[in-house]
Amino acid sequence: MKKINNKSIKLIKFYSFINHNLIYNNKAINRYKKNTFEISKDRAENLKKLKSSIINIKNCELKKNGTNIVFSDGNPKAKIMFIGEGPGQNEDQEGLPFVGRAGALLDKMLASINLDRKNVYITNVVNYRPPRNRRPTEEEINRYLPYLKKHIEIINPKILVLLGSTALNALISNANVISKARGKWIEKQFGTCKTSVIVTFHPAFLMRQPGQKKFAWVDLKMIRDKKANFKI
Ligand code: URA
Repeated sequence: MKKINNKSIKLIKFYSFINHNLIYNNKAINRYKKNTFEISKDRAENLKKLKSSIINIKNCELKKNGTNIVFSDGNPKAKIMFIGEGPGQNEDQEGLPFVGRAGALLDKMLASINLDRKNVYITNVVNYRPPRNRRPTEEEINRYLPYLKKHIEIINPKILVLLGSTALNALISNANVISKARGKWIEKQFGTCKTSVIVTFHPAFLMRQPGQKKFAWVDLKMIRDKKANFKI
């Protein structure tokens, strides 16, 4: 039987990511099942407090229109954290981030560098669904920003991946367009958390512009290499 070499394996991973309709695994993925992880009492307490302060936000249009808070998914002990924009319809229904079509592509992107939701942590800039899936406004972003920064501080990731321009604008700056800002490491501090940040394209954008996936693949390989450097 012909042996598959490393180059072929890499190609298979790349094509699996490029064509997100390809079957990667025959087993159904139940993304709706909440993962549970053993975490320290402190971290669990801090996450619980953070979640209830978000639930207690007053006079917020997003919250008024949303069904469920979408707080996070993945492993709170993970050293890699991903931040998207805001929940869509599926996420609003399930109370979990990235469970719709963009989430399926995010899962493929993770799988292409040997990651999954058990070894990363995922949240969004805003925790309630913006009506009709519009982008969150500047005011809404600023309102949720202190909670997001606290969230990063609690998780304390070594690698922080910003998915798309809303996360870029919220946490780095408004000055750069994503096509210029992506694919570079930036050292940042959020409270006590020092982390290496990288910006890449949002999976929903990649579904609209599949030609950009080759750049996302470059970014994913940078994340894979950084992860190896940090021995994560
Ligand atoms: N898009 C996002 O930015 N976040 C989600 O949770 C889902 C889609």
